[in-house]
Amino acid sequence: MSLLVVGSVALDSVETPFGKADNVLGGSGTFFSASASHLTPVQLVGVVGDDYPMDQLEPLRARGVDMAGLEQAEGESFHWRGRYRHDLNSAETLETRLGVFSHFSPKVPAQFKTPDYVFLANIDPRLQLDVLSQVKRPKLVACDTMNFWIESRRPDILELIKHVDLITLNDGEARQLTDCFNLVKAARWIMARGPRMVIIKKGEHGAFLFKENSIFFAPAYPLEEVFDPTGAGDSFAGGFMGYLARTNDMSDANLRRAIVYGSAMGSFAVEKFSVQRLLEINANDIATRVSEFRELVAFEEELRA
Ligand code: AMP
Repeated sequence: MSLLVVGSVALDSVETPFGKADNVLGGSGTFFSASASHLTPVQLVGVVGDDYPMDQLEPLRARGVDMAGLEQAEGESFHWRGRYRHDLNSAETLETRLGVFSHFSPKVPAQFKTPDYVFLANIDPRLQLDVLSQVKRPKLVACDTMNFWIESRRPDILELIKHVDLITLNDGEARQLTDCFNLVKAARWIMARGPRMVIIKKGEHGAFLFKENSIFFAPAYPLEEVFDPTGAGDSFAGGFMGYLARTNDMSDANLRRAIVYGSAMGSFAVEKFSVQRLLEINANDIATRVSEFRELVAFEEELRA
């Protein structure tokens, strides 16, 4: 099944307690594509400036990311500068320069207009809506957002969520969007406004999938070393959507498996800077990690007499 993503294709400068990386490949669309392409081909829509190191995107193209929808425009690429202190769950944004994204008007190529699955990765919600309006209604549309857009474009986000089946947020963003401290209530607040499913990510504390009548929880993989948390959320979304697009099965059991694939891909992303680790791993590494998740949560109930 086809999987389309629109998102930021950025240059990131990141500082963590373990080191620094300057102007490395980043962006929600980039992490999502690097992750999902392990499971299914990906169609990417986005824009970069004339300063973008296009050759560094080659490994993504080689692994099945179709970049016909990635425009190169005159001007500066999207730049994000962030820092993590000892709480690796929350990034401190030091600088966001939208660059060519501030004038971007997405043009979805004709061959991308009938996607089965769509992920509107974190970017200006007006661009997310614009892309959605250019495609034939897919089987599943999911979106992501972040504090930056919740603060600056809240009405657009409320409009966007009317048109999506699923939204992914981290716990802080869910609380900020809904004004509900309790995450179960926050998920209900969102489901009353459009999406039938809500994923709330809690970084190293795992992720919840809320549906009208059920809640599923998967832990995060207990890594001994987290090097750089940037992109964990987008890689999670790539694993989740990539698995759904590959299996084309929206049953409850399969959605739960997709959450575990998402968690596995998120855990790889944080092992190195940028998309480095996502580009190194193979199908075997992913299968092994998914089995480890099973081990992590499997237990037998005590037999009663
Ligand atoms: P996450 O998965 O939440 O850690 O996403 C990290 C990525 O989001 C980084 O590679 C950034 O380039 C990108 N990013 C940061 N701020 C924004 C923003 N306001 N809009 C779109 N992408 C962003």
